[in-house]
Amino acid sequence: MLRDRLRRLVQRPGSADTAPLSAVAAAAGRREDAVRDLADDELSAAVAGLRAGGLTSDDDLAEFCALGREAARRTLGERPFDVQLVGVLALLSGRVAEMATGEGKTLAGAVAAAGHALRGRRVHVLSVNDYLARRDAEWMAPLHALLGVTSGWVGQESTPDERRAAYAADITYAPVSEVGFDLLRDRLAVEPDAVVLPEPGIALIDEADSVLVDEAMVPLVLAGSVADAEPVPAYADLARRLRPGRDYATDEDARNVQLTPAGARAVEAALGGIDLYAVENLDTLTAVNLALHAEVLLHRDVDYIVRDGAVKLISESRGRVALLQRWPDGLHAAVEAKEALTASPGGEILDSVTVQELIGRYPVRCGMTGTAMAVAGQLREFYGLEIVVVPPNRPCVREDEPDRLYATADDRDVAVIETIAAAHAAGRPVLAGTLDVAASERLARRLRRAGLEPVVLNAKNDAGEAAVIADAGAYGALTVSTQIAGRGTDIRLGGADGADRDRVAAAGGLLVIGTGHYHSSRLDDQLRGRAGRQGDPGGSVFLTSLQDDLVTRYAPDETYKGETGDDGLITDKGAHWITGHAQRVAEGVDLEIHRNTWRYNHLIGLQRAEVLAERDRVLRGDAGDSLLRTRAADHHASLVDAAGAAAVAAAARTLVLYHLDRVWSDHLAFLAELREGIHLRSLGRGLDPLVEFNREAVPAGKRLLPTARDNAVAAFTTLTAGPDGIDLAAAGVQRPSATWTYIVHDNPFGTLDERAFRGLVTLLSRKRR
Ligand code: ADP
Ligand code: MG
Repeated sequence: MLRDRLRRLVQRPGSADTAPLSAVAAAAGRREDAVRDLADDELSAAVAGLRAGGLTSDDDLAEFCALGREAARRTLGERPFDVQLVGVLALLSGRVAEMATGEGKTLAGAVAAAGHALRGRRVHVLSVNDYLARRDAEWMAPLHALLGVTSGWVGQESTPDERRAAYAADITYAPVSEVGFDLLRDRLAVEPDAVVLPEPGIALIDEADSVLVDEAMVPLVLAGSVADAEPVPAYADLARRLRPGRDYATDEDARNVQLTPAGARAVEAALGGIDLYAVENLDTLTAVNLALHAEVLLHRDVDYIVRDGAVKLISESRGRVALLQRWPDGLHAAVEAKEALTASPGGEILDSVTVQELIGRYPVRCGMTGTAMAVAGQLREFYGLEIVVVPPNRPCVREDEPDRLYATADDRDVAVIETIAAAHAAGRPVLAGTLDVAASERLARRLRRAGLEPVVLNAKNDAGEAAVIADAGAYGALTVSTQIAGRGTDIRLGGADGADRDRVAAAGGLLVIGTGHYHSSRLDDQLRGRAGRQGDPGGSVFLTSLQDDLVTRYAPDETYKGETGDDGLITDKGAHWITGHAQRVAEGVDLEIHRNTWRYNHLIGLQRAEVLAERDRVLRGDAGDSLLRTRAADHHASLVDAAGAAAVAAAARTLVLYHLDRVWSDHLAFLAELREGIHLRSLGRGLDPLVEFNREAVPAGKRLLPTARDNAVAAFTTLTAGPDGIDLAAAGVQRPSATWTYIVHDNPFGTLDERAFRGLVTLLSRKRR
């Protein structure tokens, strides 16, 4: 007890004790010489010898670390530092290792993955994009080969056979999204052999905070085309006739629109005097709302373009036409109606899964990132994950200057250019971080006007940007980048080859300039962490203004009436409080959104699991056949006489799977509408939307399996056996003719939760001091 309390006093609150791990790493060091003498095959044999012991005792772990270190030295020319071994041990104990940028997480992760594999579990090393999955797998392949474990990688372009082969390896490197899409596609398998993903084992997540917190609620969606989709009535004409102010109100940042009471009455009158808010008119309310969104909030040539008679999205954060991406929830159809285009072939959502749910499937999770402590609470709350703070190999000597706060954005922008120009004139490499693509373009234009030539990155091409960012530390380099551009690549002083290192170090190393704070201090730290890697010299400074979005959105009531210098610089510490406060409010809102979305998804996840369990019994067992044999005995017997038992069993499986899948995608559509409808109905009525949601969603979920079975039995009794066997198409069984997958990243209005919680901002910002 006392020891525990003492320990808690010395370590960072919320993180696990590193002392036991350091002791094991030190023990590994004492074995280094002995291991050095082993021939390659002896080394592999020694690793294989650890398999039997389960790799749990400190002794075995130390031996494994020594062997892993030696293998890395031989195959990669890099000898893992003690702190990297601490990272390995943190990962092997199922925790999140916090290791700064450039500390060598790729290598630590690769050794840990091998350790997990030796324990007999399949390991998925999950990365944030295709480029990193492939890069890390190929980079670490010689190490894994010497350690006697197999590895592979999956990317967007991988074929089903390539995927199966990669997933069959002990260690698979893959982007999170591809694993999610494979999971969803497997949902449609009608033959056991068509399944691609094996049972989940260990998830080792790179950039764990991005994946587990920032992207946790991003839905990965599988959609399919349906030949006979019911047309959704479009209310484009009606929406066009409504007047702003009188009939509907938009919020400040034009991301949300609502009917006013007068508007609702106008719509009700136009639709023949219905009660728009009655439960039975949910479909109509939703469709009207979508039409209003399409009419008022989405602007042609800004949010979308019309090309070849079709609506193509312009992705806000990426500034380009998004391939294959459609707006969710019927919005696409509403925009098509607004533009009087023929509706594109109806697609319906067959299933979707959030990143959090995907990760939740793995019985063991661990991860690594430079910034974990700031989200310690969320990692514990949502994933039961603890953090180990791994110290840097060499102490960080980066100079983080205090913020420079300006009264206006214009003053700040002038100062940004001046600061960049001064550093650049001295040959110092500069990385300027912006909040989004548009801000990057604006900054680049201003720099060019000042006679500078920046390289601009905005997360369009992961591989190309990795090459550019690797050179961002070269003498005189000037790079403008959004938050996620060039992710996973570290910046070496003196360029990718380090040729000019001394000259750059003498100039002060890389200077990181933030042009405003992000909505979380963690993202600020990620940008800062680009400088001062592995004990390099470097610096960082954020130039912010009281007109920044963060302040006007999250601390709208705060005003500053004090002094400013001629250049607009504010030195008053009280004013600096405002930006920090705004950031904390923003972080609180993001957390509430996460929590709330999770609450909704939790129930859906439970219902999905029930349907999937039944699906599995049908796919791999004889649950389908036995259902029909019991419930339609006579028909079953006569079909067996005509077509044989095997043919009937196969038809039964396909038929029951079909009805299960149908019922599930209908249920998802119902839930989506229910949520939207409840959100609209409970606005201003003081109802708890979650309670209202559950009131309807729970019983609907209970009906899923009985309904699917009833439907399958009913369809089965219409089946006939002809000369070509059993005709399933005649019983309405029709798989989607095409499927596609997408990520809902760029919902132009924000998610329902974001809209619901916009109100919270005002609330939270009033509870001050
Ligand atoms: P992180 O993911 O932690 O930001 P990386 O895994 O990308 O860092 O590694 C950063 C750089 O450090 C790479 O160039 C890698 O080759 C190098 N590196 C990692 N570990 C070692 C080591 N033990 N010795 C020498 N170089 C290393
Ligand atoms: Mg990395």
